Amino acid sequence: MIHTKVKELLASKDVNREVAVQGWVRTKRGNKQVGFIAVNDGSIIHSIQAVADLSKFDEELMKKITTGACVRISGTLVQSQGQGQSVEIQAKEIDVLGVADETFPLQKKGHTLEFLREIAHLRPRTNTFGAVMRMRHHMSFAIHKFFNDKGFFNLHSPIITGSDAEGAGEMFHVTTMDVSNPPKNPDGTINYKEDFFGKETNLTVSGQLEGELAAMALGLVYTFGPTFRAENSNTPRHLAEFWMIEPEMAFYDITDNMNLAEEMLKYLIQYALDHCADDLEFLNNLYDKELINRLKSVIEKPFTRLTYTDAVEILKQHNATFEFKVEWGTDLQKEHENYLVEHFKGPVILTNYPKDIKAFYMKQNDDGKTVRAMDVLFPWIGEIIGGSQREENYEKLLTRINEMKIPEKDLWWYLETRKYGTCPHAGFGLGFERLMLFVTGMTNIRDVIPFPRTPKNAEF
Ligand code: ATP
Ligand code: MN
Repeated sequence: MIHTKVKELLASKDVNREVAVQGWVRTKRGNKQVGFIAVNDGSIIHSIQAVADLSKFDEELMKKITTGACVRISGTLVQSQGQGQSVEIQAKEIDVLGVADETFPLQKKGHTLEFLREIAHLRPRTNTFGAVMRMRHHMSFAIHKFFNDKGFFNLHSPIITGSDAEGAGEMFHVTTMDVSNPPKNPDGTINYKEDFFGKETNLTVSGQLEGELAAMALGLVYTFGPTFRAENSNTPRHLAEFWMIEPEMAFYDITDNMNLAEEMLKYLIQYALDHCADDLEFLNNLYDKELINRLKSVIEKPFTRLTYTDAVEILKQHNATFEFKVEWGTDLQKEHENYLVEHFKGPVILTNYPKDIKAFYMKQNDDGKTVRAMDVLFPWIGEIIGGSQREENYEKLLTRINEMKIPEKDLWWYLETRKYGTCPHAGFGLGFERLMLFVTGMTNIRDVIPFPRTPKNAEF
């Protein structure tokens, strides 16, 4: 069926022509003579108004046009008489493709975000989730565009991984064994040789290690895929399934890495301002009057860069106000990250963390205490990016793996890249949903992914 997107109709100057629209009824109002039907098809946050002369339409048909119903309306596109829209449709023909009775849960506006999470199958039909989902698409596209334009290659790293040494938290097991009665070894342990892959496998927590292998062949690569963490962190910033962007660059040092991270974040935020104006305006007005200003302010000035050690010096002076006291060597908590971004009035990149709170693969500094890690801290969010220059020296890497009691045999392939033509390289991971929190102004990560996976929650 030929029809035109609402987005195109609303932008059209070409009136007094026959058009057809298909979508879902947001509201119907009117009087005894005319009905005003607002139709939204998801192409844009705004709905188009169709005006129906009730003398021309069957009463039974009009009764079926209720909030949530799916309709096809054809008629003449005309300049709108009313306020708030430039054009409207004088309806000539209306078909109800799918009714929605009075049990449709989105009858009236103003449902809480908590309630909408319980109806995640229908919440895309709200203005809020329409806006968030459209912005998710634009941000995803912008990420591919940013890297493509810079000559990066997209790498599809595996989702099922045979190593449990990626060093980023708890993993979900992948198995086809009968969990109530798995095959056992003589000593009572589970015999994974009989499992599907003949070994223990998990869902990946990061594509980084594979990214490194590819960078040492293709130069500049990035992954953009789902990652899984079985950590029981019920916070507004953690999901069990989230999407991560992980660029990995041969011949980049930590400074090049920071420059790329800053350039990328600014590019993405500018892209949102340029391509998602309607949706941003809606979210700004409804949820957070500072949203658009905050996005602009992040683009305007350089991110503050300082070492972990310098940050700790600042934080220590305010220990009295923190729940978790800071001293050199402790991992920074959300409250400390917040303090730093407020103190510097914008994003902060911290570098040179103590090696004991960071992963085994990070390049060791000459001081013997710190590694060339970098975390990008954002207003509102806290950590949005974690990255590092990687240890390219075989001996140093092996020593660290042994010190941290990581099973060397699982990483033989990773270690071999340091044996054969090793090179300096660096990379980072950007949590896609953390970026989405920032650009939408939503405050709970469950509201920036279509179907959130969190502890005890995988309904849809
Ligand atoms: P955090 O300290 O916030 O738990 P992390 O240090 O464990 O994060 P990394 O392993 O450095 O995270 O992952 C890289 C990026 O992935 C983070 O900077 C963040 O943007 C994102 N990220 C990490 N864990 C999650 C999660 N559970 N849900 C959503 N995004 C996440
Ligand atoms: Mn991190």
